[in-house]
Amino acid sequence: MLLSKESLKGLIALQERDKILDALRADMAAVPEEIAGLRGRIEAEKSRAASAKAKTVDLEKKKKEKELELAQKEESAQKHARDLNAVKTNEAFKALQAEIDKAKAEAGEIETKILEVMEQIDAARREEKALAGDIVAVEKGLVGQISQAEAKLAEIRGRFDAAQAQRNESASAADANAVKLYEQIRGRGKLDAVVPTDGGHCGACRIALAPQVIVDLTRASQVVTCENCQRILYRPESLAAQAA
Ligand SMILES: [Zn+2]
Repeated sequence: MLLSKESLKGLIALQERDKILDALRADMAAVPEEIAGLRGRIEAEKSRAASAKAKTVDLEKKKKEKELELAQKEESAQKHARDLNAVKTNEAFKALQAEIDKAKAEAGEIETKILEVMEQIDAARREEKALAGDIVAVEKGLVGQISQAEAKLAEIRGRFDAAQAQRNESASAADANAVKLYEQIRGRGKLDAVVPTDGGHCGACRIALAPQVIVDLTRASQVVTCENCQRILYRPESLAAQAA
């Protein structure tokens, strides 16, 4: 395939623009991930607040249960105290009195437990409140970062659109067949489809080039590809010679 030095330069220019597009595309792809990460952190903060609240609710439930237990013990002690009047034997009196003492002792233990739970509730409420204050500030910061990321994405998208237009301009100005070949090579994942030679080697895969290939590259009048990696080759010295 014939290819003039000018066309080759056009292809190199096209590749430069594609590189810019590739970089912008990668930048754009990174932003949604960044935003998802920030949203995840907001969710994590909310779930911390929710577990703090759940802890308080649990403790309050525990306190109610203990209060109910206490009421039952007190009622039982009162009932036994009333029954004392009806008791006939000394033995029965003693047994009942023992029941009353036991119920009172148990009620005392429950009261102690209730006081402990109340202290725990106070601590849990303080923690909940402190956390709520933290979360407001943290969430505000994260929401701000999300807005910044969204603005950045819009800005990159704008640059991408402009670069895309420039790229298409370069592509339509370049030799159509050469562009087709170039795009085929890029389509195979070799984004550096056009590579300079480096001291008689392919600049990409480093294979030593045959003497005839060097001759063709020096002449720079046709498409020369690397026999190993199939990239389009050019000799920077030959391109510079014409410019001089
Ligand atoms: Zn190669």
